[in-house]
Amino acid sequence: MSVTVGTPVSSVMTNKRRVGALKSLGVLTVGDALTYYPFRVTDPVPLRSIREARIGEPMAFAAEVRAVRVSSSGARGNGRLEVVVDDSAFAASRRQPGAMARLVFFSHKKQYLDWMSGRLRQGTCVVVAGAPGVFNDQLQFTHPEVLTVGVHPTSRYRFVREENQPLDVRNASLGAPTSPRPDVESPEEGLARVCRPRPVYHASSRISSDHIHDSILDMLRLLAESGDSAASEEKEEEDSRARLLSGLARAIPDILPERIRADKDLMHRAEAFLNIHDPVSTKEFHRAIATLRYEEAFVCQTALLQARAHAGHASAEPCPDTALRDAMIDSLPFDLTGGQREVIDSIAADMSRDHPMQRLLQGEVGSGKTVVALAAMLQAVGSGRQAVLVAPTQVLAEQHHRTIAAMVDRMAEQAAMDSDGHPLSAPPVILLTGGMKLAARRRALATAASGEPCIVVATHAAFSKTFQAPNLALAVIDEQHRFGVEQRESLRGKALSGKAPHLLVMTATPIPRTAAMTWFGDLDISWLTELPGGRKPIRTFVIPEADGHLMGSMFAHIRQRIDAGERAYVVCSRIDDADETGEGDVLDETMAEPMRPVVGDAARSDAGTVAPPRPLHTVVQIAERLTKLPQFQGVRFATLTGRDDDATKQQVMAGFASGETPILVSTTVIEVGVDVPQASCIVVFDADRFGLSQLHQLRGRVGRGGTPSWSFLVSQAEPGSLGEQRLAVIRDTTDGSTIAEEDLRLRGAGDVLGDAQSGGKSSLKLLRVVKDADLIVDARERAEALLAEDPELDGEVELAGAVLDFTRGNETYLTSS
Ligand code: ADP
Ligand code: MG
Repeated sequence: MSVTVGTPVSSVMTNKRRVGALKSLGVLTVGDALTYYPFRVTDPVPLRSIREARIGEPMAFAAEVRAVRVSSSGARGNGRLEVVVDDSAFAASRRQPGAMARLVFFSHKKQYLDWMSGRLRQGTCVVVAGAPGVFNDQLQFTHPEVLTVGVHPTSRYRFVREENQPLDVRNASLGAPTSPRPDVESPEEGLARVCRPRPVYHASSRISSDHIHDSILDMLRLLAESGDSAASEEKEEEDSRARLLSGLARAIPDILPERIRADKDLMHRAEAFLNIHDPVSTKEFHRAIATLRYEEAFVCQTALLQARAHAGHASAEPCPDTALRDAMIDSLPFDLTGGQREVIDSIAADMSRDHPMQRLLQGEVGSGKTVVALAAMLQAVGSGRQAVLVAPTQVLAEQHHRTIAAMVDRMAEQAAMDSDGHPLSAPPVILLTGGMKLAARRRALATAASGEPCIVVATHAAFSKTFQAPNLALAVIDEQHRFGVEQRESLRGKALSGKAPHLLVMTATPIPRTAAMTWFGDLDISWLTELPGGRKPIRTFVIPEADGHLMGSMFAHIRQRIDAGERAYVVCSRIDDADETGEGDVLDETMAEPMRPVVGDAARSDAGTVAPPRPLHTVVQIAERLTKLPQFQGVRFATLTGRDDDATKQQVMAGFASGETPILVSTTVIEVGVDVPQASCIVVFDADRFGLSQLHQLRGRVGRGGTPSWSFLVSQAEPGSLGEQRLAVIRDTTDGSTIAEEDLRLRGAGDVLGDAQSGGKSSLKLLRVVKDADLIVDARERAEALLAEDPELDGEVELAGAVLDFTRGNETYLTSS
């Protein structure tokens, strides 16, 4: 049967349980197996004779079994197998005297010990790898790796080689498939196999790293054989690794243009896969990773540049009239910041063209993005068109609707006062949400459908078919990164002309520039960096929860602020004890402490022991606890979680804004965009378990009214732990992009943009958006150069295919939300 990268795993593997286990890891095809990358590689194990052993250091040697003893210690049925081995022949090859050592195996399964003692009969030649210890004054290997060798023990060894000289590994593990017994044909083969660096994979309870490795090696071998049979039998005597490689190269064509591969000294794609899953040395392993990492960057940048070039051909309604916009700006009670003015100018230029603007506006929380959005919308409306602003939640849509309607009203009043005769008519500002009363929603839909120039503030309801705006020329998406091609297309369908609306995407979640370039490469990017109105930065404190005294002073401080007429948020990750997952972006235990290992880094192995997860505080429990505190006598509390319906949410927010319930205990539902200017304090419980960017977002909820403000990060992180270091980052920096980079560095790439991207669907597996910034820039430049010569990639068929796959994969993850 001919095997290709598209062949399902189930048709090349007979072991159904293993097929199932691989499937649960997202490995469905041979190609998936190739890109199931290990997260680290073990160091090669040195050859040492027993005499050369160092306690606790891994080593490998060949020996002969002298004696075997099975003993079972009755009561608990714990059996023990002792094997004495003698390394004389091997030691002689290293000009060392031979010696004896003991191999010990424990098990409560008799079957296992029988099987092992069956393999290790007296006189058998074995290859042993492990770290020795000392027991009863004798060198002992406990549960070493042992391979049986199918040669007569007295045959001559060929180990005479200098120290440090690389092993001859050409005939190693991927050579001939091994027969069930013995494990290897020669001591050299066995030693090469146990000594070489080995990749370590993320395993699961259903399949171990070693079994994943074996499966991938099997599939590589099958692929290579398929590639090989397609060719001739030209090279009989060529060694097996070279055979393997040439077979693989036929099965896995290269994607990178040859010139770039040569320039950057990268491997062929097939060679890279082989060296990742079956590395000859750690150096080659890392070169292989570097190769595929560059390839990802290059494919990604080519795809984005091509998408941008194609979008350049789409047409849009030009909106050149800025009079209404200027009237609004003149009526503002404050001056625009330099940054706001610049962005508004870029938008004005974009929107006056007849092809669609595609701009991403990044601005710190409180940097004043709403005014910028309104300016853009008034340019559309002033030019006789319609504009829609899409917010991620009902609460936010309502809040935007209020602020925008107020600004538009003020503009109309101001203009009426200034003007000499022709009053300026304010455009309608319409709210459209799924939760609205039917009559009100019908009215809103009718106004939009009439084509009358207006501003629509909406939730996702804007993407539904019932919303039609025949004159739509601008869409603003607020606080939403997972907005993709499908939704863009749905907006395009709104306008009667069929032309694409201009698009402005706004986000406060800081995304490092390189990340933005990776994911939003087809958008222009603007940045608002300063906070308007001379706002005072938020003071951030890390409070160890165990420090009762400090906790007490924190509560007393909050009481003072409340008595001064301010408000406080208290955030917990879970609603109640029934809430297992928690809301928002809480790190799971494995990520919070050892941190997700990054491919190629000497990250900690999966063997690290992790303490049982401690339960996270809940809204219910904390609200109850705080109400009882003497510091909060007579203060009214409210709670808010994602489980509350919209009406309740609205009511609770109103009570909080008015000061009736000045303390709000909630989940992270308050994270995005909520604006209560009197809020001056925020307490986050279990802060060590939140993502840094999310903590930064949360603290942005306070200090929006120009008062000094405080954020308290209550933590149970151990002194000196990573958790503590992470909180120090957020305490010491208020710069969003520094925090985002740090967060990325500590957590790996996918998480910043949401879970969908970090899962199997993302086409980016190796690329690290911060660490690989230089590489991405290089890839972008080369991709630009290539596309300038060959815009449709006619001369690069394999690359064109990879770009198509990438674009398709991305559509899935950019649109899922
Ligand atoms: P965000 O970027 O987080 O959406 P907003 O647009 O909600 O920020 O602005 C935060 C607050 O700052 C609002 O109350 C807004 O009126 C005010 N603001 C915006 N621009 C300026 C400015 N140039 N000078 C003073 N205050 C401003
Ligand atoms: Mg906002």
